[in-house]
Amino acid sequence: MAKRHSRPIIGVLAVQGDFAEHLHMLESLGVEGREVRLPTDLVGVAGLILPGGESTAMRRLLHRWDLISPIKSLAKRGAPILGTCAGAILLATKIADGDAPVLSLLDVEVRRNAFGRQLESFETSLIMEGLGSEGRSRTIHAVFIRAPEILKVGPSARAVATLDDGRIVAARQGRILGIAFHPEITGETGVHRWLISEATAALG
Ligand code: GLN
Repeated sequence: MAKRHSRPIIGVLAVQGDFAEHLHMLESLGVEGREVRLPTDLVGVAGLILPGGESTAMRRLLHRWDLISPIKSLAKRGAPILGTCAGAILLATKIADGDAPVLSLLDVEVRRNAFGRQLESFETSLIMEGLGSEGRSRTIHAVFIRAPEILKVGPSARAVATLDDGRIVAARQGRILGIAFHPEITGETGVHRWLISEATAALG
């Protein structure tokens, strides 16, 4: 049997937010990205990015376009999913202060806009577990824009990056990764490389 050329197609949820930057990043890494707006766009996709943006708008559109259950099925099949900022809010099992969870794929509680007005936007370096080769830690450059904080990590997930003050800004559950920051606008390629390698592994 001919060897399968396992170059994965990565979907990028393109209902709202900064999906174009993620597609650009994938292109610069030599990987095909695909805008996802309809359930059929998910067919043949080996991994998915939920970008930053406005989680309330994204939540509405995910429901309206019947994307919730196909995204959950994709996760169940073992495809990696990366949620950045608003995307991490969509992944969480709990959202503080009342909002209902959306996808409930990552066992964390998040608080939206947790860094307040003064710090609406800031940049820092972070050590992130599991991104380097053979699962080693890697220092990455992170930009926070009206970012959420991960308040609690449940038993199914684990914290993989914290700020110097101990606040959790990234958590992982198997191949589901939620990060409070934006790697796609700084030229930081580590997180996308992780997603691509997980998607390649998931293809088998
Ligand atoms: N503050 C936004 C929200 O709560 C997230 C901001 C972002 O994705 N950069 O949805």
